[in-house]
Amino acid sequence: MALFTDAMPAVSGNTVNGLGEKTPRPASPFFWHPPEKQTHGELQKIVTDYQHRSPEVSTHFSPNAPGGRGPKPIFQAEHAATGTAQSFTALIKSFALDNEADLVGVARMSPEFVYDGYTIEHPWVILVGVSMEYEALSQAPPSFDNPAAAVEVAKEYNRASRACRKLSNHILSKGYSAKAWPGPYASALNMLPAAIAAGLGELGKHGSLINRKLGSRFRLSAVTTDMPLLADSPDNFGIDDYCSRCQACTNACPPAAIANDKQWVRGIEKWYVDFDKCIPYFGETLGCAVCIVTCPWSRPGVADKLLDKLGQT
Ligand code: SF4
Ligand code: SF4
Repeated sequence: MALFTDAMPAVSGNTVNGLGEKTPRPASPFFWHPPEKQTHGELQKIVTDYQHRSPEVSTHFSPNAPGGRGPKPIFQAEHAATGTAQSFTALIKSFALDNEADLVGVARMSPEFVYDGYTIEHPWVILVGVSMEYEALSQAPPSFDNPAAAVEVAKEYNRASRACRKLSNHILSKGYSAKAWPGPYASALNMLPAAIAAGLGELGKHGSLINRKLGSRFRLSAVTTDMPLLADSPDNFGIDDYCSRCQACTNACPPAAIANDKQWVRGIEKWYVDFDKCIPYFGETLGCAVCIVTCPWSRPGVADKLLDKLGQT
């Protein structure tokens, strides 16, 4: 743990994230951004180098990961295909679901989805979600002796990368501009608020999305484009209220990083995870994931029953 606590910079991650701020502002580039563009870059290197000491995790995070990270971008076709926003939306959703995505939704681009200092010209963002296998995740927190949960996270990041790169190329082949945004490293696009707007889930107390089918058992990637599309709506199925009565993740989080009450963050009162408390444990355990797997919504078969109870089926 000292390896990570000693590497924490003088500025708190919570300050960079805008904890306690009541005025809205764009999110600052942070931990997963290129190290030279943010305050916690050295810490990122130490955390990721440590993860790579596990041969199993390193294999799946390498550029030659099993299954690959997806195709390189193709050239945009010269002539744009004709169609309506409705037909293009149906086309890209069915393509995504046939090509490794488990969830897909569309949002109109908003300044709220762009990190400070960046611009994105495309008017649409397509969010892709890929599920994670519960059996592997339930072995969280990962360790060098049993890295199963970390390997599963890495594998699904690769699948999410392939899904968004294939979708982006499909749009390019139809004569529209498109750009794939794979994870886990971040760039201009702030995927979490975009995924909420696109109907992929609600923000849970543990700081991750909760989807009505998969709970928090999924990873995101995205494609931005100028192909005319129709936006989905946020899917509000009662998580906010549910989280206010549940403390499973709060009690399970080893470093007590999950606050029980909402907090002000850049002008919005919302659930927030204390970065400075989370990251040393996250680093030491090759990515932790305890809160994700503890959330009752993530357990296979439970989400449907909870939706029933909330009258949301
Ligand atoms: S990832 Fe682990 S340390 Fe971080 S908030 Fe979740 S349970 Fe806590
Ligand atoms: S464990 Fe409970 S409080 Fe935490 S995110 Fe899941 S539903 Fe919300």
